[in-house]
Amino acid sequence: MSRPEVRIKDLHKSFGDNHVLRGIDLEIAQGEVVCVIGPSGSGKSTLLRCVNLLEEPGAGKVFVGGCEVTDPDVDIDAVRRRIGMVFQQFNLFPHLSVTGNLTLPQRRVLRRGKAESARIAAEHLARVGLSEKADAFPAALSGGQQQRVAIARALAMGPEVMLFDEPTSALDPELVGEVLAVMRMLADEGMTMMVVTHEMTFAREVADRVVFMDGGVIVEEGRPEQVVTAPRHERTRHFLSRLL
Ligand code: ADP
Ligand code: MG
Repeated sequence: MSRPEVRIKDLHKSFGDNHVLRGIDLEIAQGEVVCVIGPSGSGKSTLLRCVNLLEEPGAGKVFVGGCEVTDPDVDIDAVRRRIGMVFQQFNLFPHLSVTGNLTLPQRRVLRRGKAESARIAAEHLARVGLSEKADAFPAALSGGQQQRVAIARALAMGPEVMLFDEPTSALDPELVGEVLAVMRMLADEGMTMMVVTHEMTFAREVADRVVFMDGGVIVEEGRPEQVVTAPRHERTRHFLSRLL
């Protein structure tokens, strides 16, 4: 395994007396694709959100690219620049064109100039196959196109790691494939990715490793063919049997 890009050590998180993450240990190597699966409420979103400090971890440590995210003195903005996140709800800015969605964060956060941010936006729109939608507004796009714009927007920031939280769960079934195809391309290009998903075909074919979470702990992890096809734990078997 090459050097870990993401390192999570004994991570705990509670909301009030709801102890949601109960000691998560996970390392993700550079270029590795890890799919996180598990029942609703098991803490998958909270785990992702703790990696980029959308939630403040209660205890434990998170490192991204060698930098400790959980260090109280950390520059949160600097950390977030290294981490792209894509949500189930695409969260595009509705009042901005597709290009505006891609340029605004580059200009605000990275202080890139107008021409440079537009050039980089165009580059990433082309990667997700949406060059012809550059001037469209989000409302005029299908859900699959909106999600591809959201991915392009994250990529335009030059992240070292991409986090995906159920990126296809809000999509009509016929639009899922185009989003998964973009994610597959990123994986093939060597992007480090942590993907919460219920798409078992994607997990089987694209993930280097599958992590099954339940009740705030990692119950089992391993190669996808092992975890998805021949799970060792009853809880994993039960979860998978309900998906199929
Ligand atoms: P998953 O993504 O696996 O469905 P979540 O991480 O969203 O699980 O939620 C895990 C638990 O944490 C749930 O019990 C949920 O109600 C609770 N939870 C998540 N976010 C919050 C929050 N912001 N405030 C209070 N409780 C939360
Ligand atoms: Mg979730």
